[in-house]
Amino acid sequence: MKSNELQTLATQLLNCTACPLRQGAIAPVGWFGNADSPIVFIGESPGGVEDNYGCPLIGPSGQLLDKALWAAKMTRDRVLTTNIVKCRPKGNRTPTIEEGASCATRWLEKELAIIQPKVIVALGSVALHYLGSPELRITRSRGQWFKSKQGFDCIATYHPSYLLRLSGHSQVTAKWDVFHDLEAARNKVLESIPDYNFMSIEPIDLFALFSKRTLN
Ligand code: SF4
Repeated sequence: MKSNELQTLATQLLNCTACPLRQGAIAPVGWFGNADSPIVFIGESPGGVEDNYGCPLIGPSGQLLDKALWAAKMTRDRVLTTNIVKCRPKGNRTPTIEEGASCATRWLEKELAIIQPKVIVALGSVALHYLGSPELRITRSRGQWFKSKQGFDCIATYHPSYLLRLSGHSQVTAKWDVFHDLEAARNKVLESIPDYNFMSIEPIDLFALFSKRTLN
């Protein structure tokens, strides 16, 4: 079963000390959602709230993502969310391309090999650079389909943290762009799995599922 394989991988991940990012984090943050999901959303790295709770995209960015998913008729328990980099970079800085590749080849690749998603949504530049190419720019490439080097169908959209930094008309326009990208991803899955249930009857309260972690 995929969920058992992911659970084994999660236990291994918690013991990873392969790079210096581990020293600034409480612990690695894995993934959340349905192991059998045909769609995977990949962000960049945990922030402070994610590190505190051990859940990807649970902080302000994650809450905005949940609203966008709900608008596109999806809930977090029916999809799977994860990050390129599993340990929070100090000061919440953006991980480098090298840090992304180093962590993702160790962990994300193994997750995807188990999950075998039909569609991947790259949330922001870090995921786009790893799955596509470091030369790609999110402003030009979002909304366009590409194949990852592993052969997965991918579409990129803005990371919710980018939306939070915008205001006024720019923010409204970017939110609509994300909505259309999420719809496109959902529709692509439905081409091959027309009866997949993307949505529970209520949005998921992640804070009810995760407790604060502490440094050992
Ligand atoms: S960032 Fe990734 S490779 Fe580095 S210690 Fe954390 S889990 Fe391991």
